[in-house]
This record gives sequence, C-alpha cells and structure tokens, in this order.
Amino acid sequence: MELLFEKSREGRGCDLLPPLDVPPAHLMEGMERKRPLRLPQIAEVDLSRHYSALERRSHGVNDGFYPLGSCTMKYDPKVDDEMAALPGFAGVHPLQGPDTVQGCLEVLYLAEELLCEITGMEAMTFQPAAGAHGEFTALLMVKKYHQSRGDAARTKVIVPDSAHGTNPASAAMCGFTVVNVPSDPKGGVDLEALRAAMGPDVAALMLTNPNTLGLFDANILEITQIVHDAGGLCYYDGANLNAVMGVVRPGDMGFDLVHLNLHKTFATPHGGGGPGAGPVGCKGFLKDFLPAGHVEEGEAGLELRDPAQSIGRVKSFYGNFGVVVRALTYILTLGAEGIREAAQVAVLNANYLREQLRGSYDVAYGDGPCMHEFVLTLEGLKKETGISAMDVSKALLDHGIHPPTMYFPLIVDEALMFEPTETESRETLDHAAQVLREIRAQADREPEALHTAPHHAAIGRPDEVNAARHPVLRYVFPEDRA
Ligand SMILES: *Cc1c(COP(=O)(O)O)cnc(C)c1O
Repeated sequence: MELLFEKSREGRGCDLLPPLDVPPAHLMEGMERKRPLRLPQIAEVDLSRHYSALERRSHGVNDGFYPLGSCTMKYDPKVDDEMAALPGFAGVHPLQGPDTVQGCLEVLYLAEELLCEITGMEAMTFQPAAGAHGEFTALLMVKKYHQSRGDAARTKVIVPDSAHGTNPASAAMCGFTVVNVPSDPKGGVDLEALRAAMGPDVAALMLTNPNTLGLFDANILEITQIVHDAGGLCYYDGANLNAVMGVVRPGDMGFDLVHLNLHKTFATPHGGGGPGAGPVGCKGFLKDFLPAGHVEEGEAGLELRDPAQSIGRVKSFYGNFGVVVRALTYILTLGAEGIREAAQVAVLNANYLREQLRGSYDVAYGDGPCMHEFVLTLEGLKKETGISAMDVSKALLDHGIHPPTMYFPLIVDEALMFEPTETESRETLDHAAQVLREIRAQADREPEALHTAPHHAAIGRPDEVNAARHPVLRYVFPEDRA
C-alpha cells in the first residue's frame, strides 16, 4: 500500500487552520527549521480513504474474535470513551493550577480509592504509562525501601519461569540480578526451589497469579510467607486481574506492591501501542516511596504532593489521564457486583472454550480448571502432521479470527494461549471451537494448505526475523536516499 508521502502531490490538499488569534511568537535565533516542513499534500477525500483502507487491513475487537492470551482484548464499552472525551477532561492543560482542575484530581483520587479497594492496597500512583513501566516503577520503590533501611545487600529479584517477559526485563533495568525459579509439575511455583533461592540478598519476588498458564497458584499464602520470612518484598504483576477482580485481592494474598494494566482489565482500547496505564499500588508502609505528584487532600481541596522518600517522577504530569477516566467509568458502571461477575464470566468462557477443544488438541497443565486463559500444546500435532502452532494461527486469519498468543509461555512447546474474555457470546466461542476443530481435521487431510495459510488475509507470512532485525521505522524521502 502506498504511504501518504507517496500519494502526495505538490499543491494538492486542504488546510483549514483558523486565523491566528494570538500574537505570533518568534523562535530563538538558530532554532528555526532549515527547510520547509515536508507534510504530505493530499485532498481530504484521499486522506479519508487512506485511513479507511488501513482500517480494513487490520483486525480489532470490532471486527471479530480476538483471543490473544494475556492481553485481555475485551470489548470496551463506548461510554468509557464518551466520558474521556468530555471537554472538561480532554481539554485541560497539564500546566493549569490545581485549583482549576479539581474535577480531574477527583477522578484520580476516586480511582485510587476504588482500585485500592479492588487490589487490597493502600495507595496508588497513576503515572506509569504501561504494565512494564509499572513494574519498573514498583521495583524502583522496592530498591529505595531496602536502601532506606540500610539494607543494600539485596540485589536479586526472583522470577518464576512462567513469568511474562517484561518481569525479568524490568528487574534487569532496575539493576537487579534475575534469579529464575522453575514451575512444579502442576504449573505452580516450586516451593522447594523458592526456599532454596531465598536469602538476605533477595529484594523481591515478582509473581503473577493466576500465572501465564492460566492457573491460580493455591500455595500463594505460603509463597508470600517464604519471601517475607527472608526479608524480601512480594510484587504482584496484576496485568491479568481480569480473572480475579472482585473475587480475591493481591493484598490479601500477601503482596506488598501491585501494578494493574488499566488497558487490559479496566476497559481501554489497546493494541497497536497505546495509550495505556500501569498504575502501581502499595501497602501503607511503602507509600512514602511513591512517585512524585500524588493526589492528596489539602486545606483548599485536592492537591499534588511529593511523598517524603519519593523515587521521583516516572512520567510527565499525571500519566495517561484519559485512560484513568475510562477505567473509573468502567468501575462505576459495573459496580462491585458487576466487576466480580465480569471476572467470573471471563473464567467461565475460558473453561468452556478449553473443554470444546480438548478432544482435538492437547491442553497444557490441563488437569484442573483454568482461570481467564488456557494454553494448548501442539507438540504432538507437529510430530504427527508437521503442523505447528504458527500454521494453526495463520489458518485462523482466513476465518476472521485473530490468532491466540503464540509460543508463550516459554515452558510449553508449540504453545497457543487463548483468552476469550467475558465479553464474547456463547455463539462466538462455539464458532471459534468449530473453526479450530476444522483446522485440526485439515492437518491430517491437507497439511500443505495450512503451511501456506493465510490465503485470504491482506498479507500472508511476513518475514518476521527480518522485520525484527531490520525494522524500517522511518520514511526516507526519495531525494534523501543515498
Ligand atoms: C501485558 C502484560 C504485561 C506488560 O504490560 P504492557 O502494558 O504491555 O507493558 C506484564 N505482565 C503480564 C502478565 C502481562 O500480561
């Protein structure tokens, strides 16, 4: 498809900028651009068609089923977007004084109160812009907490082998050494291995429960106790709170800090890179370490304060405020009962789809019930027919279904991880199961057709290695090409 810059024709286009109604400002000497701005020149109709064409080439929740495991691609109610677009929220300037944005501060204050209730935490920051950013923020707090007690020897962070890849990455970025603990045969944390890994050099354990196998670790109280007994802190990766919100609370499981993915669990459209929010909640004894700019009650109303031993800012201003408005709207429209029901239906839907597929595919760690997601292993299918997890994923595209998460978690061979979410109907789940059974039958009948799928999608099989190793992220104008 041609880019806007390639469609551009000199002199074409429409600019509808209103006349300047403020005095023109002049840039400092030497700051002016050296050549005119090179914007594409294109008529409004062609611009409009360009974006419609792009939209048709991609798959979103509005197009069809999107069971991308661990990503919670649920349908987000439109009322959340409507609230975020209210001029009083969308039109404020981040440099306005607190007395002029009391309503916005109240959104942050109330969202903190409700999300602390949901997670069992006592304070929260909304600055982090994503889940990984939340992990990073929380680990900086962990580091500062230990340092503040003169305990500088804690240089290790324990991460189970089923963890989301961002966990070890965040720990490493904070300067910690990552120690992996294996899973036990049931898919939970191996308690003996955890005990062996603990010591006076461990700063924290990072854990997601339910884990990326979609399993709830029933030993959770013992796990957090083992870490606390050795002086470490327990960090809960709450990106996938969709399975347990309103049912159990990380704070009650023994966790000291948690991050949430508002853009997964609390209804903000995502995928394609943002915007998101990864708020971090903590127990009271860690409150003083929160990032600078925490909403608190002052004499003249709500104000922003810097906690006493703050780690500093992790993002400018208030983080992605519009995402918090959506999350608050979502929580208030569902209410306590609705939040719990959403989690219960998410779990029900995952179990329903899993049982529909059990006869055709092997379920990894499939003895007990799953939570919000489940993992299939296509190891056997691949040996038998040569059809891989990748082939099945590509074949799904021809049926208007987005592939599940592939080759993750790493501890399962030929993994396909499905997360149907609570917003899908029984008919949608039945249809997906039927399609997957057909693909399974096709693997025996005509494997070649699956190796070359998709046959009807906008693009076939891109060269993923090349795309990752040599990404082309910037358009180079013909006259600038060497
Ligand atoms: C999505 C996810 C993350 C990372 O969240 P981002 O917003 O993509 O940075 C971390 N942990 C788990 C378990 C996740 O599913």
